[in-house]
Amino acid sequence: MAPAQNDQQQEVAGISTRAIHHGESFAAETGAVMPPIFTSSTFAHGNPQGFDYTRSGNPNFRILESVLAAVESCQFATVFASGVSAITAIASTLQAGDLVLCEENLYGCTVRLFEQVFSRFGVQTAWLDFTNPSALDAIAVQKPAMIWLESPTNPLLKVIDLAAVCDAAAAEKIPVVVDNTFATALLQQPLQLGATLSLTSTTKYINGHSDALGGVVCSDDPQWQQKMVFAQKALGLQPSPFDAWLITRGIKTLPLRLERHIANAAAIADQLASHPRMHWVRYPLRSDHPQQAVARKQMSGGGAIVTVSLDADQSQTYAFCKSLRYFTMAESLGGVESLVCHPATMTHASVDPDVKRKLGIDDGLVRFSVGCEDLADLSRDLDQALKQL
Ligand SMILES: *Cc1c(COP(=O)(O)O)cnc(C)c1O
Repeated sequence: MAPAQNDQQQEVAGISTRAIHHGESFAAETGAVMPPIFTSSTFAHGNPQGFDYTRSGNPNFRILESVLAAVESCQFATVFASGVSAITAIASTLQAGDLVLCEENLYGCTVRLFEQVFSRFGVQTAWLDFTNPSALDAIAVQKPAMIWLESPTNPLLKVIDLAAVCDAAAAEKIPVVVDNTFATALLQQPLQLGATLSLTSTTKYINGHSDALGGVVCSDDPQWQQKMVFAQKALGLQPSPFDAWLITRGIKTLPLRLERHIANAAAIADQLASHPRMHWVRYPLRSDHPQQAVARKQMSGGGAIVTVSLDADQSQTYAFCKSLRYFTMAESLGGVESLVCHPATMTHASVDPDVKRKLGIDDGLVRFSVGCEDLADLSRDLDQALKQL
């Protein structure tokens, strides 16, 4: 082969190419461009690829894991049945007496897992505002077994300086977990910023079509990789081959979808910010975001979640959400279709009023997951709903 061609082959492919092309299809003799779905629960002993039983590995998991590792630019990715399964896999490595230092605005189901499940096994948690520099001092004082972060946070889109926390944790040799679901590896790469584990609910942007659940944990550490593979099979946290196949299909258009998501979200944030009934509009790369300098440093795009505080009471805000035509009022996020969430009556309905106030979840808070529709239609929809307010 000519040397020029060799050089070309060694270049790292761009992110869209990596999202589209996976390695082995495990059906080489057929020439199929798309991998089949391997529904087999079991595999003949001694097969050359080392498969034995789908709970501990399946060709569709391996294909998806190779794409996710390529997109995250890391060595290892382990897939799970959902984001919560991925969180469970990591938390299951802890022992009684361990302390986890958590960002106080973690995803609700992460909080529930720690407070209602792992607490019963003796795992302790402490909750801190990691945008406050004093949280960095707490790392050396409390010496936790693990630090758990999320950035941007849900639903207030707080942005945490991941490199600063990872540096402080590295000085104490404490592993840092970053839930990267809102940004995805396309916009933010936690492992490059020093995190030990990068976890993503692939249910959201990675799959992007609101028709499958999945989760992934990425790392560059072989010991952590072994722990994740062990948790996948020992705890029964594996996905279905069909969902792994769907997510492999979904991720092919992730770079393309995110371009439209981000363009729409940035425009909608500006549109909403100019409306007199807004107390504030939160979007990571806007100049009025409280941590916009950190966001610019660690994110290559602002994502597609926009959160606003409406000057309206609970029933007015609820009616506003209901009067939208293209934003379906629903939990979840990251699909091509736009969604709107009223945390006070939906995701945070059961949260104690005092805790809600402390977290900044007021009755006028609205979270938009901006989809890939035509911007003009989304804009007009928001206009008509705001007029009815
Ligand atoms: C949705 C979500 C999860 C949980 O993922 P599932 O796939 O629904 O289990 C975890 N973290 C964040 C930030 C999420 O948005």
